[in-house]
Amino acid sequence: MAPSRSPLTRQSIVDAMTRLLGPVAVDSRDEQLRQASVDRFRKYTAVHGIYDGPIPAAIVYPSSTAEVAAVLRFAEQNLVNIVPRTGGTATEGGLETVVEDSLVVDGSRMDAILSVDPVNMMATAQCGVGLQQLEDTVRAQGLTTGHSPQSKPLAQLGGLVATRSIGQFSTLYGGIEDLVVGLEAVFPGGRAARIKNVPRRAAGPDIRHIVIGSEGALCFVTEVTVKLFRYQPENNRYFGFLSEEFADGVDAVRELITAGYRPSVCRVYSPEDARQHFAGFYQGKNVVVLVAEGPERIAAATSAAIEDLFAARGHERVDAGLIREWFENLNWGQDKIDAEKADMLAHSRLGYTTEVSVDWSGAADLFVAVMSRIRGEFPRAADLNMLGAHSSHSYQTGTNLYFVYDYEIRCSPREEIEVYHKPLNAIIVEEALRAGGSMVHHHGIGKYRTPWVAEEHGSAYWLLTTLKDAFDPYGIMNAGTIFPLEP
Ligand SMILES: Cc1cc2nc3c(=O)[nH]c(=O)nc-3n(C[C@H](O)[C@H](O)[C@H](O)COP(=O)(O)OP(=O)(O)OC[C@H]3O[C@@H](n4cnc5c(N)ncnc54)[C@H](O)[C@@H]3O)c2cc1C
Repeated sequence: MAPSRSPLTRQSIVDAMTRLLGPVAVDSRDEQLRQASVDRFRKYTAVHGIYDGPIPAAIVYPSSTAEVAAVLRFAEQNLVNIVPRTGGTATEGGLETVVEDSLVVDGSRMDAILSVDPVNMMATAQCGVGLQQLEDTVRAQGLTTGHSPQSKPLAQLGGLVATRSIGQFSTLYGGIEDLVVGLEAVFPGGRAARIKNVPRRAAGPDIRHIVIGSEGALCFVTEVTVKLFRYQPENNRYFGFLSEEFADGVDAVRELITAGYRPSVCRVYSPEDARQHFAGFYQGKNVVVLVAEGPERIAAATSAAIEDLFAARGHERVDAGLIREWFENLNWGQDKIDAEKADMLAHSRLGYTTEVSVDWSGAADLFVAVMSRIRGEFPRAADLNMLGAHSSHSYQTGTNLYFVYDYEIRCSPREEIEVYHKPLNAIIVEEALRAGGSMVHHHGIGKYRTPWVAEEHGSAYWLLTTLKDAFDPYGIMNAGTIFPLEP
């Protein structure tokens, strides 16, 4: 799709926004605009103060659905590209403003929790409510959202829905697509749609899924209703096991899940990845991490099944206290992000990730294929400090593989993405597709994985482009995200 190109000048876009929303809702300061032109995390060029892409005309902060509608109406009439934003933790370029004079529409001031309903077990919040804030609020009533991505301290509901995010307890609670009851979104031209909250319905296709995962490329999410569950941490049981082979660890998890058990956390770390997390006890082996939770009798039954299964398979057990302690420090707040940026500057190195999914029978082969192809083919393999993977979300039919890599940067900061990240990312994506899996498990396509979106969807790709054509006929929504830009 060709990007929209506004006939308006930067200044007239800023003036129009100021008239529409008032001056306190419009930010056009140079430094803020530069930072808003990229994903705020792990953009090596930006950490070095290099901003090569188009800089947005303004960041606007609507405070209501009506204001979002006014901005999207203006944008469609004047062909201004919109980049929706909430928590700013995107990792795949979804926040990058690749079109001149874009408007970053930041929903973080729409931050009201509208209701917590402990009878019908749902909470409704505006798009700018932080997940941590919502979780803290419902926990005070003995409830939980069940959603716990590592970015929980920073990510907000709009972005969490738009990226099809997933949390660390997903094997029990599901991904965000299982947790959203209903939502409200505003489409280009300013038309709002509220998909009502019902337990289930068979009234045509499930239209929530037009919005969930749309990454700001179809609409702006303004309000979300999520499910709630009882919060019973007193029943949590933590488990860690060592496995000689990655394939054995994954197969043990497969056996557990397909037998019908649902531990909330279910992870298998390759030795390279385990060394980063469990240096004290991993013994050069693969580490399996599990948490059983829920009502006491369910947690006990899940725990008994875990103990029996891993004992029967001969996996050595590690101290549950160590697993618990590790798990409680896993989330990322601004402090860890700042520390990683400082490390990038001090040591010219970068850690990055690419997460994919595959069915059970392909998981171990995909792990081996990626590891051997990167080690054998990647011209800068000698610069890798670490290359490994973990499986962190499992399903009845398969699992995800989350590849992690860390490399010394022996080129100019500007070249980093071409020399290192793109080729590594490409190998992982290509191998996932070759294995019949998905090239993206939960970070979204953003702008970095669009070259493979047609291959990902195959003969169904036209369904996706038809949605774009129908809902965003002028191409004003987050150009270059999900759908590749025409050269
Ligand atoms: C340290 C770290 C750990 C992470 N861990 C996880 C994890 O465990 N699980 C996981 O799934 N992800 C994880 N992520 C990725 C990221 O946190 C998620 O994608 C999250 O859902 C993004 O939410 P956000 O509010 O920060 O969105 P943003 O970064 O603001 O935006 C993300 C995308 O959504 C779009 N968007 C934002 N708001 C809206 C809106 N209101 N309407 C429409 N589109 C919108 C943006 O245009 C962009 O394309 C992690 C990221 C970091 C930096």
